[in-house]
Amino acid sequence: MSKELGWKKLPMGGIIEEAGNASSYETGTWRSFKPVFHPEICIQCLFCWIYCPDGAIIVEDSKVKGINFFHCKGCGICSRECPTKVKSITMEQEI
Ligand code: SF4
Ligand code: SF4
Repeated sequence: MSKELGWKKLPMGGIIEEAGNASSYETGTWRSFKPVFHPEICIQCLFCWIYCPDGAIIVEDSKVKGINFFHCKGCGICSRECPTKVKSITMEQEI
């Protein structure tokens, strides 16, 4: 960055202009890896739902139904915390 710029000329960064507006941000576009849910292995412990920092695990009737890819950033925490021997959520590279 040029020294002449100075901090006052920096472009505007991310600003939260109103409380509770995170639901309208499509943070899923940040992903380079995506979680793939395998319901046939899942024991419905809901660890993934508890640990997901983006609230992107879709739960209906106390059961995991899938991933909200609008918000999922692909951090892999859900897969990491999944306790099944063969992971019920695996991470795959985005195409
Ligand atoms: S990859 Fe990260 S953001 Fe996406 S569902 Fe798993 S824990 Fe949530
Ligand atoms: S952590 Fe794994 S086993 Fe537990 S609910 Fe999530 S996907 Fe299923």
